[in-house]
Amino acid sequence: MLIDGHGRRVDYLRVSVTERCNFRCQYCMPEKPFSWVPRENLLSFEELFVFIRTAIDEGITKIRITGGEPLLREDLDKFIAMIHDYKNDIDLALTTNGYLLEETAQRLKDAGLRRINISLDSLKSEVAWKIAQKDILAKVLSGIDKAIEAGLKVKINMVPLKGVNDDEIVDILHYCRDRGIKVRFIEYMENAHASQSLQGMHGKEILARIKEAHTIRALGREGASPSFNYVLEDGTEFGLIDPHKHDFCESCNRIRLTAEGHLIPCLYFDEAMSIAEHVKKGDIAGASEVLAQVLRDKPKENRWSHENTDEGINESSRAFYQTGG
Ligand code: SAM
Ligand code: SF4
Repeated sequence: MLIDGHGRRVDYLRVSVTERCNFRCQYCMPEKPFSWVPRENLLSFEELFVFIRTAIDEGITKIRITGGEPLLREDLDKFIAMIHDYKNDIDLALTTNGYLLEETAQRLKDAGLRRINISLDSLKSEVAWKIAQKDILAKVLSGIDKAIEAGLKVKINMVPLKGVNDDEIVDILHYCRDRGIKVRFIEYMENAHASQSLQGMHGKEILARIKEAHTIRALGREGASPSFNYVLEDGTEFGLIDPHKHDFCESCNRIRLTAEGHLIPCLYFDEAMSIAEHVKKGDIAGASEVLAQVLRDKPKENRWSHENTDEGINESSRAFYQTGG
């Protein structure tokens, strides 16, 4: 069992397989970064798997593959099958922008993927285009349909932004209700890489929008999940992820691994340790020692907060496209 320096059990690993992306979402990667991590610095799936096997042996039970856009990485289904074949009861999930899902959903399911979170910020073509800076909507919607058809458990992620898509919160909730899938509204997390003109919405503002159309009841947090669940009068459930409140840090159960082998204890902070040299040599003991150190150093909580400091809004310098959100 993996326990961190604050007594929290860590059983969830998020693996970012690439920082590259085919979208340029305003809140994540509005411009192509000055330089990508050179391809030769990316760990191969076999090298990532050396660490993943170690982490599973030590107590990881849930793995989410993310990015950048993970479906840009060739043979992702083979990587998923590698993990699934090692331990078939691992809860295997993927977060994607959905653009390439039309062609890949069935293969991912057949490889052992159970769950998929798909980002959908608007149902209006021009708004989705403005956010992602590309004409994306038709392909994303078709990808969502294919994922449902393939039998994957689908969730939708929406980041509401003031004056951009805040008028679509209820529409997206209804879109999900009609398909029997769940939406999670994610508060915009300020970070140095996002377009600086963006204004996110507080959780209470998001709930107020939904209350204009529905009565809602709070259900509570689902285990260690950062999502706080609510239910509508007709039984439809939705989630709200509010990183500006720290109550979910208390039960944080996750660590993150980047495509170049940095093991990150908290999404907000820059601290990380590399497992790259160890996994390249197949040195399981070395990788395991880095994992233990990262767990000892895992911070108690992030620094996003609704109360701004003298310097302004608390902003993370971490890029979401590197850590996988
Ligand atoms: N490309 C995939 C996607 O968009 O789903 C996976 C990677 S993306 C970094 C993972 C999640 O992080 C997405 O749901 C995205 O909406 C969310 N995200 C990215 N930047 C964010 C920000 N500044 N605030 C809140 N959520 C953010
Ligand atoms: Fe790409 Fe996902 Fe970031 Fe959008 S949120 S730029 S799709 S990594």
